[in-house]
Amino acid sequence: MAGARITSTMQDDFPLTITTILLHGSRVFGRSECVTWQGDGARHTSYRQIEENARRLAAALTKLGVGPGDPVGTFCWNSQEHLEAYYAVPCMGAVVHTLNIRLPAQQLVHIVNDAQDKIIIVDGSLLPALAPVVGSFTSVEAYIVAGEGDTSVLGDRPVYSYAELLAAEEPSFAWPELDERSAAVMCYTSGTTGDPRGVVYSHRSTYLHAVSTLQSACTGASDADRQLTIVPMFHVNAWGIPFAAFMAGTTLHMPGKYMTPGALVDFIEAEHSTLASGVPTIWAGILQVGAQREINLSSLRFGTSGGAAMPRSLMEAFQKQYGVTIIQGWGMTETSPVGGLARPPADIEPGTVEEMDYRMKSGRLLAGVQMRIVDPEGNELPWDGESTGEIEVRGPWITASYFKGEQPEKFHDGWLRTGDIGTMDDEGYFQISDRLKDVIKSGGEWISSVELENLLTGSPHVVEAAVIGIPDDKWTERPLACVVVSQDTDPVALAEFLDGKVAHWQVPENWAFIEEVPKTTVGKFDKKVLRARFKAGELDVKRTHD
Ligand code: AMP
Repeated sequence: MAGARITSTMQDDFPLTITTILLHGSRVFGRSECVTWQGDGARHTSYRQIEENARRLAAALTKLGVGPGDPVGTFCWNSQEHLEAYYAVPCMGAVVHTLNIRLPAQQLVHIVNDAQDKIIIVDGSLLPALAPVVGSFTSVEAYIVAGEGDTSVLGDRPVYSYAELLAAEEPSFAWPELDERSAAVMCYTSGTTGDPRGVVYSHRSTYLHAVSTLQSACTGASDADRQLTIVPMFHVNAWGIPFAAFMAGTTLHMPGKYMTPGALVDFIEAEHSTLASGVPTIWAGILQVGAQREINLSSLRFGTSGGAAMPRSLMEAFQKQYGVTIIQGWGMTETSPVGGLARPPADIEPGTVEEMDYRMKSGRLLAGVQMRIVDPEGNELPWDGESTGEIEVRGPWITASYFKGEQPEKFHDGWLRTGDIGTMDDEGYFQISDRLKDVIKSGGEWISSVELENLLTGSPHVVEAAVIGIPDDKWTERPLACVVVSQDTDPVALAEFLDGKVAHWQVPENWAFIEEVPKTTVGKFDKKVLRARFKAGELDVKRTHD
């Protein structure tokens, strides 16, 4: 006789919600802090207090008519108030929509109207940035202003003071029971390669992502850490750090509006940050501060970099000059974002070339995310570290679609097509060689723009380098290297510098010396702008040979 089929005895219906993260942080790690930098000192607020404030904010938002599923926009720096909104809004059952404060006006209007934001919480210092577009918002019923600022620019909608609203409430709001699959947070892609598209994170996806990033294979952050969150809270939830911090009791260092590399260094020195997370551009900026004055980064256990490839020379400089190890990670708005961190295997000797080789990978796959590399016909390629194709991912914190079902062609068989090209080796380390849209197709072969940029940045003459493909009669496309140089040099010398480091045919013969590489709103190289400049004949292109 067949035995009875065994079923789980676990509480599998227990909802994985942001509320459970908030309650854990405030009760178990009530003394951990959100530290907001003020330019010449910091404002310290305990997690216990953050939860109280979140309850007050939820009560106030309820009175203003915010109900389950309603989108509430935030137009804020990384700050205590933004953190309170991060918890209050999803935990009351509404959806926090983080607005990118650097978006061009037209895109900002598009995403607010697309999401139908009901209320916008805005930092007083950012009112001038919001002023030109408020007249175009179709759904916004009121604004809540945190801090000081000229609120007359907000037009005829009601305006409330964040501090006054909270002061008028008791911290007795009862968090509702929520479905873990309900929408919690919304973020639009930064529109690097097209119009911004909405991604909506659930409570469950946010919870699982936070747990995963706390593994020692990822940041391994704990209550001993003070984490400087340089990556903006409007850029993929500051990589999930604010949620992970409440799980692990990690103190959060929030730079507020003091986002220059110099101010960030002041913050690290004053408050002894042990972790810091930012895009490569910001790390490069910190290094430049160090070239001008003595800086002390000794409190940093390590730093994480993501969002774009980190040049090897930059990583080596941090190691050599400040003893700071930078670990690279990969992710996208669509992946919550973390898919992997390139921590070297435990048996690799720190400080060796081999260790640095591992750190130059884009990431090592995180448990929970599945990844595959496919060729243009959709065939899966081997994990041999060499076969190159598009990276596809799936997992509990990978989006299954865009808001309103845009671009269905980016998804198939439950997998997200990342638009990134790369390889995967037999230990789960993957290497992004380019975006599908940026890779240079020369005579049927691919040239990685990222690899050329990385190598060029290693030249003592080069400050920044961005490589784009330009049309070529013979080869279809050839690389144009747009470089910012610090010292007198010429294209022939730079081409010679590259020769031998890449195949001879990959060395660019087209060069443009520019003042600065244009950046996107989240600090990445904006190749769209460079392509447009080239097309408009605005780049002075020099050729090393014909
Ligand atoms: P975003 O949605 O703005 O975070 O952009 C996601 C994109 O950033 C990815 O699809 C990659 O092209 C790029 N990216 C993120 N991390 C890395 C990395 N470590 N190396 C290279 N590119 C990266």
